[in-house]
Amino acid sequence: MPRSRITWSLAFAALVTACRGETPPDRIYVNARIWTGDSLAPSATALALRGDRILAIGDDATIRALAGPSTRAEDLGGRRVLPGFHDAHWHLPTRRHADLVGARDTADIVRRLQAFAATLPDSAWITGRGWTPDMFPSNTAHRRYLDSAFRDRPVLLTDRDGHQVLANARALNLAGIGSETPEPAGGAIIRDPGGRPTGLLQESAMGLARRHLPEPTADEVYVALREQMHRAAALGLTALQVANALGPAEVDAFERALREDSLRVRFRVAVPFSKAPSDSALGAWVAFSRRWAGPLLRAGIAKGMLDGTVDAATAAMLAPYARGGGSGIPMWSDVELSAALARYDSAGLQVELHAIGDRAIRMALDAFERLATSRGPRDRRPRIEHLEVPDPVDIPRFKALDVIASTQAIFAGPDKTTLENYVPMLGPERSAWAMPFKALDDAGARQAFGSDYPVFPMDPMLGIYIAVTRTMPDGTPAGGWQPQHRLSLEAALHHYTAGSAHAAFREGELGVLRAGMLADFVVLSEEIIGAEPAALLRAKPWLTVMGGRETHRAQPLP
Ligand SMILES: [Zn+2]
Repeated sequence: MPRSRITWSLAFAALVTACRGETPPDRIYVNARIWTGDSLAPSATALALRGDRILAIGDDATIRALAGPSTRAEDLGGRRVLPGFHDAHWHLPTRRHADLVGARDTADIVRRLQAFAATLPDSAWITGRGWTPDMFPSNTAHRRYLDSAFRDRPVLLTDRDGHQVLANARALNLAGIGSETPEPAGGAIIRDPGGRPTGLLQESAMGLARRHLPEPTADEVYVALREQMHRAAALGLTALQVANALGPAEVDAFERALREDSLRVRFRVAVPFSKAPSDSALGAWVAFSRRWAGPLLRAGIAKGMLDGTVDAATAAMLAPYARGGGSGIPMWSDVELSAALARYDSAGLQVELHAIGDRAIRMALDAFERLATSRGPRDRRPRIEHLEVPDPVDIPRFKALDVIASTQAIFAGPDKTTLENYVPMLGPERSAWAMPFKALDDAGARQAFGSDYPVFPMDPMLGIYIAVTRTMPDGTPAGGWQPQHRLSLEAALHHYTAGSAHAAFREGELGVLRAGMLADFVVLSEEIIGAEPAALLRAKPWLTVMGGRETHRAQPLP
């Protein structure tokens, strides 16, 4: 018997003794194949729940013996059980928009916008989301493809990564953006050779147009939250970390859901990480973090942005992009970053920094290193979000500095945008180190997986499939894109469960299935462990449980 099994049996016997004579479980699930994520007791066939916690986990006979007269038992029919998926980087979409993901070309974009516009009042802004440069001739988005179809209606289209928008002439006009408009700090108004705006507004320039969109109402936000929770639960997600600060209507919607007991997912939300915040702003964020400290709603983290994206050539790189267009511009100076980190650190807030380019990633690592030196060691768990293109020499620094690599498996999907825009922008050397999940694991980095929804789909199984294959769902390209970065299934599952729990300081109660932990798990329709990767795409959540409560049950049974 391997040593870990002996340890586990002893621990389990002690646990059963401890349970005897106590209140029986509310519910037991038996005849399952449970991947616990716990290295001391990696598998089990049954678990018992009481309240929102796991009372015991083990084999069928032992768990059945715990049942009392009022305990409900369910036979899971040999299905695979995993800890609930935990998305470490997610956003709540609160506006309706035309979905442009996967549009073939500009004609397809216009068709989708026309169909969406038909559902809106006549004068409303037509908003869309999800375009990529390869949908436009010469990989160049321009309002000329929108102006003739939408002469009198403002159109504003956010790209897939959320770092640039395309406005038509009417929208530019309503927003007062013309040849004379100066470049805003930290952003760019892209112009024709004659100086006229092309409609492309990057980074902070997006706000020049966006501020003219009507704010969603509190009811609209609440409806969006309910809808997104149901979608998440149906995908086996039990926890979501919101990687942006909430507006007042959003805070109200979450608190209303808590009051009405309609939360179906655990949330952790960020406050803004900004340059030189006032004492009162910082105080308000600390107070908010103290208020949101329960099992379902948490805060305690600040989100900042150091650069843009590779596709928009705004990610800050150490060397210029291979296709021209400079090397991106960091949004912070080293001095500003260190000053802000020290203030947030003294307020006790964790910090997560969006950094995609190798230069921005190094800036973040350097700043976290200076922080640890100047303020001394503490379990602060600084995070870098995305870290798409680290310089290989910086990869070991994640472990050395205890910086969490908050990565998105699905970003490594080798779709048309990746292969035809992203890779040529970086050139062969840098793209060989893009999304290096395996190298990060090998270097001992702690990794947390997320989706960056709605930039990408939130389906964890799709992300895990991409992490283990580096191919698209159709299996292309054969052999996978940069296959040296492929992960084992167990590693990918770990990052999507325990890895994310650690990144949120919740490894003591989330991420593995063990007695005493919160009862968050998913039951799959089909076995994925030891199966072909394609099983990841077929397997659907059959049952999702969050805090002992069923949040999704497949109907009809697959
Ligand atoms: Zn994000």
